[in-house]
Amino acid sequence: MKAVCWHGTEDVRVDTVPDPKILNPRDAIIKVTSTAICGSDLHLYDGYIPTMKSGDILGHEFMGEVVETGSAITNLQKGDRVVVPFTISCGSCFFCNRDLWSLCDNSNPNSWMAEKFYGHSPAGLYGYSHMLGGYAGGQAEYARIPFADVGPIKIPDGMSDEQVLFLTDIFPTGYMAAENCDIQPGEVVAVWGCGPVGQFAIRSAFMLGAERVIAIDRFSERLDLAKAAGAAVLNYEEVDVGSALKEMTGGMGPDCCIDAVGMEAHGHGAMALYDTVKQAVRLETGRPIVLREAIVACRKGGKVSVPGVYGGFIDKMPMGAFVNKGLTMKSGQTHVQRYLRPLLERIQRGEIDPSFVITHTLPLEDAPRAYKIFRDKEENCIKVVLKPFASV
Ligand code: NAD
Ligand code: ZN
Repeated sequence: MKAVCWHGTEDVRVDTVPDPKILNPRDAIIKVTSTAICGSDLHLYDGYIPTMKSGDILGHEFMGEVVETGSAITNLQKGDRVVVPFTISCGSCFFCNRDLWSLCDNSNPNSWMAEKFYGHSPAGLYGYSHMLGGYAGGQAEYARIPFADVGPIKIPDGMSDEQVLFLTDIFPTGYMAAENCDIQPGEVVAVWGCGPVGQFAIRSAFMLGAERVIAIDRFSERLDLAKAAGAAVLNYEEVDVGSALKEMTGGMGPDCCIDAVGMEAHGHGAMALYDTVKQAVRLETGRPIVLREAIVACRKGGKVSVPGVYGGFIDKMPMGAFVNKGLTMKSGQTHVQRYLRPLLERIQRGEIDPSFVITHTLPLEDAPRAYKIFRDKEENCIKVVLKPFASV
């Protein structure tokens, strides 16, 4: 089959590789009808996630049609259309039982690697390094789904791939980011980053009762999409974000601050240069420009939510501000399984049509170009969907 493979920093190729096979009675194989590139894939593309190997198949946002099931699978049949959560979870460990799916204790066969970095291992993820399981991803014609009795959700007839594909990741991720803010009536939510995750965080914040959302980025097409959802916007190249947020909140600061940017934040000035240099020589694994800004901007007693991914160690955390202002911080890879049904229902009720983020639909063969335009925000790119089979 054809698959998008990682070969090194800024080097992804569409290779011909062996078809996936059922390896376990709880596996299923799906034929991928749509798959997307995520901001998290850019951390692999840019070479910031350790334990990738040349030839690894990328992709954790995908859906398709079941073509084969293992002997223990009774919930799925050939021909079913399914969306696959990016978190691989067993469904019966301590963590899965507590709805903490991205922390599954049984899905990472390379847990020892993650334990070295993190103390404990999170769940395995599709196409996201050997430290997180070494699973083949779904930017491919076919994919193997472990624990297929737990993860995939069947999609009712009549809904398009584009409406449901983002249940795999970015819709639940934006939603969990807003939920982690525990938004109270009247509260103001500031969202750094108007990429796909930020866009869903903005819409979810409104769904969960935010009175005002202030969205921050520098790309006008992304700010426009935030405005279309009802957010006020700040271009951080034109204003000082900290002062603007203070002014817009009567000196208080936003009640909730969401870092939807993560480890590859862009910035100006001495601190940004410091982070860029230290990250380049691997003395720091992320540039926490936004995280620092969010902590300093947040109102006293406020909430900081971090869906943005950080891989390892960061410097110069304003821990003094965090402690002395009595802030709360929540983060995590998304517990996708927790949100599949409720968010599918929101789509069915017409409360949101997640396809609004898609700017590009390309054949799988175009993946190398797609990674580049998505990373560099060329052609006003916000989200790319790749089609392994359809002629687009
Ligand atoms: P993206 O790269 O498309 O978007 C990031 C946005 O942040 C861009 O629009 C960029 O212009 C903006 N940005 C950069 N520096 C900024 C700054 N200083 N201030 C304000 N905005 C700034 O990526 P995405 O797909 O939206 O993903 C965003 C983050 O969410 C990534 O770190 C990704 O890894 C993470 N993510 C996490 C999960 C999870 O489970 N927690 C799931 C998916 C994605
Ligand atoms: Zn993703």
